[in-house]
Amino acid sequence: LTQLYTPLNFLGFVYREIKHALADMERMFGLLDQGAEVADKPDAACLRADAASVEFEHVDFGYNPDRQILFDVSFAIPAGSTLAVVGASGAGKSTLSRLLYRFYDAGSGAIRVNGTDIRDMTQASLRRHIGIVPQDTVLFNDTILYNIAYGNPLASREEIIQAAKAASIHEFVMSLPQGYDTPVGERGLKLSGGEKQRVAIARTLLKNPPILILDEATSALDTRTERAIQDELSRISRDRTTLIIAHRLSTVVDADEILVMEGGRVMERGSHDTLMRGNGRYARMWAMQASQSDDA
Ligand code: ADP
Ligand code: MG
Repeated sequence: LTQLYTPLNFLGFVYREIKHALADMERMFGLLDQGAEVADKPDAACLRADAASVEFEHVDFGYNPDRQILFDVSFAIPAGSTLAVVGASGAGKSTLSRLLYRFYDAGSGAIRVNGTDIRDMTQASLRRHIGIVPQDTVLFNDTILYNIAYGNPLASREEIIQAAKAASIHEFVMSLPQGYDTPVGERGLKLSGGEKQRVAIARTLLKNPPILILDEATSALDTRTERAIQDELSRISRDRTTLIIAHRLSTVVDADEILVMEGGRVMERGSHDTLMRGNGRYARMWAMQASQSDDA
């Protein structure tokens, strides 16, 4: 019986960790109190891929039937390339990432990963392929080690430290009184925005997903920290299929395609050079950002 008990116990542990991780993701997306539920089809397939392409085709969406948020949004992110989305607050940028992570289903149109509609795959397998570095990372009242390992209960201490080094947070952790065993979170050591974002980057590195969603919110950081984090983000997005929601235009210059969104619609699209030559919204956003940094 003990032979049976141990693996079951272990599975229970993994299950609890996964439940916990999903609650974490939902909190990151600010969804917990909305009880958003999307059910798997009985014959849903299991996504298994080392590389993944993403496609939105004529997607309409509203959180409530009385207010449409996205209007006919289409784009494709070939495996390994980067799509950046820019636009004012409320334009619908984060909604794209919530739909790709399948917290909600599109109202009409389709979202596909490697050509398969994400409604035809299990949520768990889809979400295993997506890593998210959110605007605001939630830390648990536990050790920094636990917080970095989060979402990957099978990671060894060695792997966790490797990820922390790659996310440039190892030295900071080593400077703490109890190192990796230092309690953090509301009831422990409070980390700065930049430190929390590095924890999220380390988590994502441990997960090693083919698809990456970056919702950058680096405006609260000083310029040096911001630059360091952006360097890390661009390093981890290399060779991955990346959807980047950019708050600073400087981070989108190298994207393979840039979408400019307004009121839930794609108003302009193209590479940085094409959009600058087009002399439209995107070029005006650059002019505005430049004049703002002149003031500062
Ligand atoms: P962005 O990321 O571009 O700032 P969002 O995608 O977060 O914009 O939001 C787009 C619109 O959808 C906003 O008007 C916002 O108020 C609305 N919205 C976002 N989340 C919800 C929700 N859970 N329920 C209802 N409306 C929402
Ligand atoms: Mg947003």
